[in-house]
Amino acid sequence: MSGTFVGMPAFPAAARAAVGDATLRANLRHATRTIRDKRAGAVAELDDWARLREAGKHIKDHTLRHLDRYLLRLEREVTAAGGTVHWAADAAEANRIVTRLVEETGESEVVKVKSMATQEIGLNEALEAAGVRAYETDLAELIVQLGRDRPSHILVPAIHRNRGEIRDIFRTEMGRWGRPAPDGLTDEPAELAEAARLHLREKFLRAKVGISGANFMVAETGTLVVVESEGNGRMCLTLPETLISVVGIEKVVPTWRDLEVFLQTLPRSSTAERMNPYTSTWTGTSDSDGPRAFHLVLLDNGRTDALADEVGRQALRCIRCSACLNVCPVYERAGGHAYGSVYPGPIGAILSPQLRGTGSAVDASLPYASSLCGACYEVCPVAIDIPEVLVHLRERVVEGGDVTRRGVRVRLRPAKGHAAERAAMRAARWVLGHPGALRAGQRLASRTRAAHPRALPGPGRAWSATRDLPPVPAEPFRDWWRRTHGEGSGA
Ligand code: SF4
Repeated sequence: MSGTFVGMPAFPAAARAAVGDATLRANLRHATRTIRDKRAGAVAELDDWARLREAGKHIKDHTLRHLDRYLLRLEREVTAAGGTVHWAADAAEANRIVTRLVEETGESEVVKVKSMATQEIGLNEALEAAGVRAYETDLAELIVQLGRDRPSHILVPAIHRNRGEIRDIFRTEMGRWGRPAPDGLTDEPAELAEAARLHLREKFLRAKVGISGANFMVAETGTLVVVESEGNGRMCLTLPETLISVVGIEKVVPTWRDLEVFLQTLPRSSTAERMNPYTSTWTGTSDSDGPRAFHLVLLDNGRTDALADEVGRQALRCIRCSACLNVCPVYERAGGHAYGSVYPGPIGAILSPQLRGTGSAVDASLPYASSLCGACYEVCPVAIDIPEVLVHLRERVVEGGDVTRRGVRVRLRPAKGHAAERAAMRAARWVLGHPGALRAGQRLASRTRAAHPRALPGPGRAWSATRDLPPVPAEPFRDWWRRTHGEGSGA
């Protein structure tokens, strides 16, 4: 995965800074509560929501089980329809491929559809290093780009900004990137949208190269699908002469029938709409319309490693609806930047450590960025058991363990900072496996109970600061049982 967020502190430190920002918390609280209430209403309209959710889960699991077969079918169909398929093992290879393809067109500007995959690999930065300027055309992505900011939400990347902040960014920054904001711009949503529309239109009409991701790829016909709300995607996908799509390999679905399920669950889970305003589909190239050249870059970048993990692989079902972010009490308070990756919230907490590994302090901290309340699992339209994967990844962080990296089984070293926890668990295992030692320890604890501290010392202080330590009883249970039931009573 790219180093877009390199240098971020681990989750606890980053979250502490975010929690202290009252404006950020107010923006997040307002936005997430509004979206999640609307989503609940949109989902409640469907009697068969539970069946759709189950169907989505099974389609994704089936496809992941036969991923090789469906990807090869997709490649055949895209090629037959006039497109070219490229395979990228990691971010560096994907960036090299896209940069070369843009350079071959002779262009120095590209327009982009909102795409998590290109953010994941840091494509804009790679293009910039090669002298190519990438213009984001989704409204929220435009705000993030103009503000030299980072996205903090999957669906609403500028969720941490309020209208006043957006107006100020447009006023000061639009002129540096192209058409300036109109004089006297206010923070009225309609005026802000119009300013963005005018700014972007000249870029759409000028661009010769478009770059996109895709929400889905239909293997049986080699068709790519983008769903969006603003129409900017439709412009990027149809106006340029060359279209380059960078898509994670897990986005393939076998058939159009399968796609139908997700076209019902995705809009309701993400924007709380019955149907999203724009659904663009394209298959290769056509002589009569649209781009003359189409390139599909299929991105692995850690996905096959995640696929090899029996518990963790369910994260690859994700359709990036962001419903889990909007219900998460941790996300609502900490915001998206604290997760140190383009994938924030509960899905980021299980996806980033699998795509990037748990070797860094940021990634080792992410599986702990949750209260395990389970709200994310309840709303997930493909039933990803996020709490289960979080606990599984915590185990990996503490124990190290085996994972697959680029098809090779490797043993991870346990993350630093967890040595004390591991030592405590080993000691507990030994004591619980030796009844004599356990009995002696319990009696000693009872006899010395008057001297027990009310708070733990050292690093344990933070834990006991918010909890009451239970007092040790005056008599161990086993002794009480023998005394009250007799020596041969089975205690
Ligand atoms: S994990 Fe589920 S709820 Fe969260 S973004 Fe992915 S599909 Fe949506």
